[in-house]
Amino acid sequence: MNNMYVYIVIYLTLSCDVQGIQQSLRNKVVVRQGNACGLCNCNFSKMMPHEIHHLNHNPKDNRPSNLLALCANCHTAHHRFGIPVYPFNYNYSTNVSSACKAYYEQ
Ligand SMILES: [Zn+2]
Ligand SMILES: [Zn+2]
Repeated sequence: MNNMYVYIVIYLTLSCDVQGIQQSLRNKVVVRQGNACGLCNCNFSKMMPHEIHHLNHNPKDNRPSNLLALCANCHTAHHRFGIPVYPFNYNYSTNVSSACKAYYEQ
């Protein structure tokens, strides 16, 4: 892993600063997803905290269509390893969560 790669990862992580999102908006995003991660579908809890991801990687773009709640694991997997995530309401007929599973089983 070279330094440039590390830098990009840090940049991408910081660019999704979850602190910048109002609690009410955050709640809306989580509720519309049924309190489940937008990638692996696990339920959020204190032991499975949610993070708000910006689909276009622009932390200032807080339009609901640009926001997706992910569990900390999926969020990190997306930014670090490029595991694909899809906007809410995306047709999940293909096995998005098995892609996630395959990653964890590696
Ligand atoms: Zn997840
Ligand atoms: Zn993110």
